Amino acid sequence: MVKRKLREPLEDRKGNLYFDGFSVEELAQKYDTPLYVISEKRIRENYNRLYNAIVDKYKDVHIYYACKANPNLTVLNVLQSEGAYLDAVSPCEVFMGLSSGYTPDRILFTGTSVRNDELKFLADAGITINIDSQSELDRLLKIAVPPTISVRVNPEVGAGHHNHCITAGPQTKFGLWEEAALKAYATAKKARVERFGIHMHIGSGILEIDPYLQAVEKLLSIAKRVHDELGIDFEFIDIGGGLGVPYQPEDKELDLSEFVSKVVSLFKSKVKEYHLGKPFLCIEPGRYLICDASVLLTTVNTLKITPHHKFIGVDAGFNTLIRPTMYGSYHQILVANNLNPKNTDMFDVVGPICESGDILAKDRELPQVVEGDVLAILNAGAYGFSMSSQYNSRPRAAEVMIRQGKPVLVREREQFQDLLTTQRITQQGE
Ligand SMILES: *Cc1c(COP(=O)(O)O)cnc(C)c1O
Repeated sequence: MVKRKLREPLEDRKGNLYFDGFSVEELAQKYDTPLYVISEKRIRENYNRLYNAIVDKYKDVHIYYACKANPNLTVLNVLQSEGAYLDAVSPCEVFMGLSSGYTPDRILFTGTSVRNDELKFLADAGITINIDSQSELDRLLKIAVPPTISVRVNPEVGAGHHNHCITAGPQTKFGLWEEAALKAYATAKKARVERFGIHMHIGSGILEIDPYLQAVEKLLSIAKRVHDELGIDFEFIDIGGGLGVPYQPEDKELDLSEFVSKVVSLFKSKVKEYHLGKPFLCIEPGRYLICDASVLLTTVNTLKITPHHKFIGVDAGFNTLIRPTMYGSYHQILVANNLNPKNTDMFDVVGPICESGDILAKDRELPQVVEGDVLAILNAGAYGFSMSSQYNSRPRAAEVMIRQGKPVLVREREQFQDLLTTQRITQQGE
């Protein structure tokens, strides 16, 4: 078996897996499984690595945490304390941001198919809205004329780890194409909106730099037209998120210094060339900040051999982590008490959900395990808990954060009763 070097905050202590200084077996025992364990330290490191890399090249930078990746209030609060801003895609994400310490001026709302009552909620709360259609803008302006408007443009180039995660280019529902964007800015200006931003978000899980360069170039050429033709100055230019992380052993890390030097240089030179003043450069990572800051722990309960497969049955399924089922994503899996196995075999790791697609890993080389062993599913921090569900009427997992050197429960495990509280049994004729 190819031995891969563990990366922080993972550690091999005599063949046993530690996460941010704690034995994952002991965490599993104490809090039960399935359990998401989050490293506060790693989140802060990821944030600061990115922030320092950019600020070095361009001083006026804002990092917006795209919180749909994991909207846990403590995660939000940790990033808030680092100075992060927040990108919210639903009113409840805005509410969570406000509840965890973000002031309204530090939240950007980037929704799609947004309802009127949602627009009213956002306008009342003083949240800047990133417009996704002329329809949304027209409806907003009937409700309120906000001081600031941003428009999400489609820079006509997209990228991403899966078709579902490409959010720009010809096939997408997101953003406004160039001419439509010009019209939206003209509408907003006519309605006496005073301050402006411009935005794009091309996709998720991007490990190459070229798509960003093409998209930034297009974004800034649209900004130039808006500036030249409508006399609009931009307070901020938001290049979106999507920075990828390596999941597969052979994936290369995004070269951050190359990313920053190429993308930020292009940004700076175009801003200067087009006389766009001194806008804030905004970037909206979700995955990059939290993905490798969390593992999902799950316990083996079943071993089953059929004529075709060797199954390892565990207590986490696609209700807990949907990425393998939804996107065919790869997540590395480690056996917590056997990091340096002598013998391995090929296994399918499957969950408790009554569907055949409930597979966390297929044909995976792993050591022989026994019932009761704890498995750690790596890189589970982004779109892990946040995409989990109660399907098959299974209460959702707990989240523990290693915070200031101690494990603390930051989300309780749901109980049966939690699945019943919003339901009513009505009698016939009632
Ligand atoms: C999801 C999303 C992001 C973050 O994507 P990542 O791939 O997690 O970085 C950023 N901006 C918007 C508008 C999004 O919808």
